[in-house]
Amino acid sequence: TKFSDLNLNPKVLKAVEEAGYEIPTPIQAGAIPHALEGRDVLGIAQTGTGKTASFTLPMITLLHRGRARARMPRSLVLCPTRELAAQVAENFDIYAKYTKLTKALLIGGVSFKEQDALIDKGVDVLIATPGRLLDHFERGKLLLTGVQIMVVDEADRMLDMGFIPDIERIFGLVPFTRQTMFYSATMAPEIERITNTFLSGPARIEV
Ligand code: AMP
Repeated sequence: TKFSDLNLNPKVLKAVEEAGYEIPTPIQAGAIPHALEGRDVLGIAQTGTGKTASFTLPMITLLHRGRARARMPRSLVLCPTRELAAQVAENFDIYAKYTKLTKALLIGGVSFKEQDALIDKGVDVLIATPGRLLDHFERGKLLLTGVQIMVVDEADRMLDMGFIPDIERIFGLVPFTRQTMFYSATMAPEIERITNTFLSGPARIEV
């Protein structure tokens, strides 16, 4: 498979070419076609496999295809740590650079002020840690009813860090009708239970 065979938006393809990627990694070749069809994806993949692009590239393509909803985030990416969320945000900026799509990075350890301003202005994508996302929600500022694509990254680390109750709560705050992309390096029984509960007929890609 080549990137140009994957039906990605040409603007995304251009950014991928500039990043110097020549061929899609197995998780990318496996996940992207299903994601672009709107299917749920269960990715069993470690860091270093290219999993970030496997959800970010189709997400940008789908958001670009869709109609912007004023001030409402249409995609939510949940990461276990601030560092990982920041990395995903950096990747998003690289791959979305030729689009007008915007993001907010919602992580702890920094003031709410800048994050509030971005939310008020309106962004397409939220990239967040679960605790900070729920803090924003409880402060009454964040509406998640426009979320069409939800990504859970590194679910096994979420489990280790005790975030599964937060994740379950967040699944209850986004629309039932949505696309979910869920990634974990391993499939512990608790992770299997979550995927059975919150994913709908997912394409399962194990690398
Ligand atoms: P990840 O597993 O998402 O953390 O990605 C690991 C690294 O691989 C990152 O530095 C990416 O920039 C890089 N990468 C992702 N996809 C490709 C690809 N298709 N070809 C070459 N490098 C890639």
